[in-house]
Amino acid sequence: MNRKYRKTIIAGNWKMNMKPSDVKPFADELKNIVSRAKWCETVICAPFVDLPAAVKAFKDCRVSVGAENLNENPKGAYTGEIAADMLVDLGVKYVIIGHSERRQYYGETDISVNKKVHAALEAGLQPIVCVGESLEQRELGITIELITLQVKTALANVSADKVRKVVIAYEPIWAIGTGKTATAEQAGEVCCAIRAVIRNLYGARIARAITIQYGGSMNEKNAAELLAQPDIDGGLIGGASLVPEKFAAIINAANQE
Ligand code: PEP
Repeated sequence: MNRKYRKTIIAGNWKMNMKPSDVKPFADELKNIVSRAKWCETVICAPFVDLPAAVKAFKDCRVSVGAENLNENPKGAYTGEIAADMLVDLGVKYVIIGHSERRQYYGETDISVNKKVHAALEAGLQPIVCVGESLEQRELGITIELITLQVKTALANVSADKVRKVVIAYEPIWAIGTGKTATAEQAGEVCCAIRAVIRNLYGARIARAITIQYGGSMNEKNAAELLAQPDIDGGLIGGASLVPEKFAAIINAANQE
């Protein structure tokens, strides 16, 4: 983390877990155990149907709410889809874009990620853009090239003014939901490379200000070590974000003086 130049953000990704009726009890429990988040912003990204309850329940515990996806079009005949404006209208602040599960199961590509990034920024949402390599790609030694391409494509034609709102989440696919965490050095190396890509595209001032998270089995035990890396400015957390004590412990780790 480097709190002098950028925001630390701890974001939960509930995925397809937690019903609307689960939201308030979770928020009440989290409120009781989390210490005041002085140094980091906390976000819960929830399924669409949970969002109204989440905006309401998290309002007074200073937790921002995010969606897990959006449609790249502003409105129209896209049955079953949700547009950025609809999320903004609800009070949603963040949106996860290009999570590896969406790339794997729903055919999302770097190009569709770029379209969604533009749609989110246009509407005033802050995108959390996920990038990451598979185990095969890591073993082939192409991680940095691959991540560079993912980041460049995701940010294509995004202005310097707007890119400040983008959060990048480095999520090695082999570490998501597997209990296998990248070592702090592995995660730190890729996050540093991501910042270098942003520096090349937008210059040092902007690169220094962008929040880059690590995601992949981050938990209450490994969070402090991962967050100690200078280029890891927070976490995107799946499994551990479903349990208030575990999520609170990660937030508290990000809040250490
Ligand atoms: C994720 O889904 O973004 C994630 C990192 O999941 P987990 O923490 O469960 O590995």
